[in-house]
Amino acid sequence: MELHRLTIHELRDLIQKGEVSPVRVVQDFLVRIGQMEDQIQAFNTLTPRTAVGFAKKFEEMQARREKLPPLAGVPLAIKDVICTKGVATTCSSRILENYVPPYNATVMARLNAAGALMLGKTNMDEFAMGSSTENSAFKKTRNPWNLGCVPGGSSGGSAAAVAADMCAGALGSDTGGSIRQPGGFCGIAALKPTYGRVSRYGLVAFASSLDQIGPLTKDVRDAAILLKVIAGHDPLDSTSANVPVPDYEAGLTGDIKGLRVGIPSEYSIPGMDPEVESAIHEAIRVLEGLGAVQEKVSLPHTDYAVATYYLVATAEASSNLERYDGVKYGYRTPRSEHLIDMYMKTRREGFGPEVKRRIMLGTYALSAGYYDAYYLKALKVRTLIRQDFTEAFKRCDVIVTPTSPTPAFKFGEKTDDPLQMYLSDIFTISGNLAGVPGLNVNCGFTKSGLPIGLQVIGKPFDEETILRVAHAYEQATSWHRERPRL
Ligand code: GLN
Repeated sequence: MELHRLTIHELRDLIQKGEVSPVRVVQDFLVRIGQMEDQIQAFNTLTPRTAVGFAKKFEEMQARREKLPPLAGVPLAIKDVICTKGVATTCSSRILENYVPPYNATVMARLNAAGALMLGKTNMDEFAMGSSTENSAFKKTRNPWNLGCVPGGSSGGSAAAVAADMCAGALGSDTGGSIRQPGGFCGIAALKPTYGRVSRYGLVAFASSLDQIGPLTKDVRDAAILLKVIAGHDPLDSTSANVPVPDYEAGLTGDIKGLRVGIPSEYSIPGMDPEVESAIHEAIRVLEGLGAVQEKVSLPHTDYAVATYYLVATAEASSNLERYDGVKYGYRTPRSEHLIDMYMKTRREGFGPEVKRRIMLGTYALSAGYYDAYYLKALKVRTLIRQDFTEAFKRCDVIVTPTSPTPAFKFGEKTDDPLQMYLSDIFTISGNLAGVPGLNVNCGFTKSGLPIGLQVIGKPFDEETILRVAHAYEQATSWHRERPRL
């Protein structure tokens, strides 16, 4: 059996019943990584020995017929922005190249307690700034569906690793679309939870009021399973919400009769790929076939979302990235004349061009004289965008949109034009500004064989409903079972 092809729930069921040894599972994935990594380039660091070590422990428990933790032996990949104790956490940046955290992020502690194994840390855009993973200081991750195309970003390594069956599932982070967009480009399920649903403790901060950690998986059931493990209040993150975590898997009833699906009129934009548009229309028809009803809704401030995001996110980033000064941790320039020179050279040599651009934009937006005109105004527009969703959700239970206006693009296609790159998150960014959850599910392929993503957006803390809708959609279609030919 090709164990690396299986989903988390399939592996879990086999391991729990004692039908497959966790050691065999891990070894199968390690062989797969060995075969694929040259082409895909998904990982910054691999941790095979620790994974096999834990798998052996679970194998012994299996032999003694002891009760295993729920995800015992399930191998995952972790975006390199999530702190892992004793394992390098680089954010794909030179400035953190040698950083080894002395502690685990809360999500890691929770995955460990559930028995999940880490295979390694995945490549990303430097500090999660980007939409193609081309901003990594280390390598180019390729899209498993077409090696000439980007995997999306910033969680491109995680998405590619899942799509290429190099792990059973992965964690990513999403500040403006970085879980959902690469999920869409790589044809997998990918969920950004409500702001506050998952602890950010140990997530290296990009824009603290927008960042969330979430799962990237082969199907929606797997996303429900991982979310259940990582979600919930954490005293170590004061922005994590004290809201009960439902049993998401039990909520996958397949029943969406009478559910109101909101279609925002503002999301039909010029420049949208016609193949994406028709796949989304077809997906809406499938949902109607399952008994859902269409409801026209309006999100009138959508036009301002990208501009607002690039003020709020860069402002927060400029402040969060101040800590990389060559003193506290990470890279320090080997040549400097005095303290200020050391700071400047460290940052000049340690950060890549996109990170520098963001720090400059954010510093400018926060500077005296411009704060009111830019940052403060952006906060006000953010409130209007949030109110748009509150109003829309009075008329519907979920909102569906494309995840991105185009499928995966070619390497280099948008690198010279940052604004074009920024626009690829046009449908995902509002969700972060409003704090609402959003889920990508594969809804077909272009004629040239690239996946197309459908985004299902939910009310705050109602991940249960978007998971149910996306799962019902998966049951009625077979897109999620397609695999790239590698
Ligand atoms: N692409 C967006 C950006 O560059 C979003 C990134 C993210 O969600 N981390 O900021």
